[in-house]
Amino acid sequence: MKKVQVFWGTTLVLLAAGAGGAAPETFTVGTATAERGRMAAGAIRVPAGSDAGYDIPVAVIHGAKPGPVLAVVSGAHGTEYASIIAVETLMGTDPRPAIDPATLSGTVILVPVVNLASFDRLTPHVNPIDNKSMNRFYPGSATGTQTDRASLAMTREVVEKCDHLIDLHGGDLDENLRPYSYWTVTGNQQQDDFSKGMALAFGLDHIIISADRPKDPNASRFLENTASTRGKASITAEAGRSGPVDATDVTALVNGVRGVMAYLKMIPSGPKPVANPIWIEKIVTVAAESDGVFHPSVTRDAQVRAGDLLGTVRDHYYRKIADIRAPEAGTIMFVRALPSLKKGDTVANIGVARK
Ligand SMILES: [Zn+2]
Repeated sequence: MKKVQVFWGTTLVLLAAGAGGAAPETFTVGTATAERGRMAAGAIRVPAGSDAGYDIPVAVIHGAKPGPVLAVVSGAHGTEYASIIAVETLMGTDPRPAIDPATLSGTVILVPVVNLASFDRLTPHVNPIDNKSMNRFYPGSATGTQTDRASLAMTREVVEKCDHLIDLHGGDLDENLRPYSYWTVTGNQQQDDFSKGMALAFGLDHIIISADRPKDPNASRFLENTASTRGKASITAEAGRSGPVDATDVTALVNGVRGVMAYLKMIPSGPKPVANPIWIEKIVTVAAESDGVFHPSVTRDAQVRAGDLLGTVRDHYYRKIADIRAPEAGTIMFVRALPSLKKGDTVANIGVARK
């Protein structure tokens, strides 16, 4: 076997041309070992420590032909359902494989739900076992709580074994969100050009330029950033909102993954890349200054001017506590979907487009 370095971080593993044929080459993630041209399902084991361990579901689709390794992960937040259903859809085999290993070039690693406890207990934002967000503690630690140990298992089994990663999210239970992707700028021009191509290939028409992510691979915090700081061009994308699974959102995410697979030449063709996306260069987060009952005045994707009313905070007697106004003009990337409001909660994220 010889390894050929192509692109930046993309490693093609080529079979040695041996007489008599080598044993079938396999690809293993956690307990899932797929032979060439096959799919296998299994689990990434998170060992017990100061709290319980658990198994993260994973599928490996090992293409018949050589090519890059693409990891697609969702469910760091286990109530961002559209993204979870999108990855599970990509695992489907009935009536035909969503991703056919017989014709695939390369390997796809699919992880639909990292934060199983959140999914099981309908807990937004955090892992209810240790109250930590499962997209803030990468690259993880063997001695921390469940989120730290799960993050380390994901780093070792998924990030280190892939060439490119797509981390899927969506509006959580309290977020009425319009779809968008993130393009992370690392400062490595070649890698950034390549990941920009991935974001365009994913097809969502709003792309947030993310230039403030940590540069240290040992303090990478986010899953996608754990791959990006290891030289692996990667993106994050979000679709879905506040609970119900909308088929439009699932389709956008599934088509996005297919678009990136076509860009990576893993499949011969895919959905068209987005032609003229809106590049968001700044996100203005508006936070609540008091507890109360939130009454939104805008919906997702609305265009607001500085000073426009975003919503009103009332008490349980319907008395007004405060009006909340937009500090800057922009697009409502998401607005709070639920009336429950605590001081410090995000009321809205406003995206400011690049001029
Ligand atoms: Zn999320």
